[in-house]
Amino acid sequence: MSGSNNKSEHFSSLLLSWFDQHGRHDLPWQDDRSPYRVWVSEIMLQQTQVSTVIPYFERFMDRFPTVTHLAAAKLDEVLHLWTGLGYYARARNLHKAAQIIVTQHAGCFPAVFDDVVALPGIGQSTAGAILAQSMGQCHAILDGNVKRVLTRLHEIEGWPGQKAIEAQLWELAEAYTPDTRLADYSQAIMDLGATVCTRGKPRCQDCPVVELCQAYRQHSVALYPTAKPKKTLPVRQTHMLLLQNRQGQFLLQQRPPTGIWGGLWSFPECPLDTDINDWCRSRLGLVIGPIQTTNVLRHTFSHFHLDIYPIRASLKDHTDHVMDAAATVWYNTRQPDALGLPGPVKQLLEHLV
Ligand code: SF4
Repeated sequence: MSGSNNKSEHFSSLLLSWFDQHGRHDLPWQDDRSPYRVWVSEIMLQQTQVSTVIPYFERFMDRFPTVTHLAAAKLDEVLHLWTGLGYYARARNLHKAAQIIVTQHAGCFPAVFDDVVALPGIGQSTAGAILAQSMGQCHAILDGNVKRVLTRLHEIEGWPGQKAIEAQLWELAEAYTPDTRLADYSQAIMDLGATVCTRGKPRCQDCPVVELCQAYRQHSVALYPTAKPKKTLPVRQTHMLLLQNRQGQFLLQQRPPTGIWGGLWSFPECPLDTDINDWCRSRLGLVIGPIQTTNVLRHTFSHFHLDIYPIRASLKDHTDHVMDAAATVWYNTRQPDALGLPGPVKQLLEHLV
C-alpha cells in the first residue's frame, strides 16, 4: 500500500470513532451476532438494500431460528420466504450450506476461514465478514461498498471487477484492517460506503476519512470507481401461459432445480411463434378457450433481458388434469400455497386477483 502502518492505523481509528457516533447499531442482525444470523444477513444484503432486507431477515429468523431448522426445511419453503428478494441461487446455496453444516460440522457454523469459504455461496469477502463480525477474527472484507471507498481513497483506475484491480483492492483492504475491534471495523467500513461514500452523491463533508482521500483532494470523486464496460444485453422472448381452470386457479409448473429460477414455480412457457391451442393440447393435454394477450413485461437478468408476453385463457373442459402432472399445481390466488415464485410471476398473479 502506498502509505505506512501509521496511515492505516490513523484510517481505522478515524473510522471507528465515526462508527461509534454515527454507524448503524440497531440492525436486527446486530442484536445477537451469531455466525448463523450474520451469515444470513450477509447473503441477503448482497445486491440488496438494508431497508429491503430487514423484513425478509426477520421473517426468515422467525421461521428458521437456527441452522438446524434451515437444514431440515423443504427448499420450497425457503424459496417461498425469499420470494421478491431476487437472485434465488442465494437461497438455494444457503439451504445447501445449512445441510453441509449439519452433516459435516455437527450443526456448528465453522470457525476456520477455509471451511467457511468452502460452503456454497460464500466468497472470500463474505467469509471474512462473517468471521470478523461474529467471532472477532482478523479478516479483510471487500464488498461493493468497500471497493468504492478504496478506489476513491487511492484514485484507483479500472473497473473493480477486473482481476488485477480486485487484487490491488484486496491488498489495500488487508493493509487497512486493524488488529482489534474487527466486528466494528468491518461493519464501519461497509456503513461508510453505504451511507456516506455512496455511489450517487457522496457526502464528503461528513466523511471521517476525508483528510486521507486522494479523489477528494484532486476533485475527482465522480470518476471513481471506474464504470463497468458497457455491453448490450441480448433480449430473449417467451410466452407465459396464464391458464385458469373452472375453480379460478392458475396452472404453475416447477422449474428444474438448476438454472434460471431453479426450483421456483412459474407459468408454462412456450416460444412466440407457437400455436397456443395446439401447444396446450399436445404438451399439457388441456383444451383452452379464446386467448387474451396483455402487456409485455420485461425482466432483466445479469446477462439478458427476458421479454414476457403473457397469454391468458380459460380451460374449455371441466377436467383440468394435466399431462405429466408431477411438478404442476393449480394455484389458488386467494389461498396461495407456500411456493417460491419468480418476481414477474408474482407480479402477474397479483394483477390477476
Ligand atoms: S472523502 Fe468523499 S470520496 Fe473520499 S472516502 Fe470520503 S466520502 Fe468517499
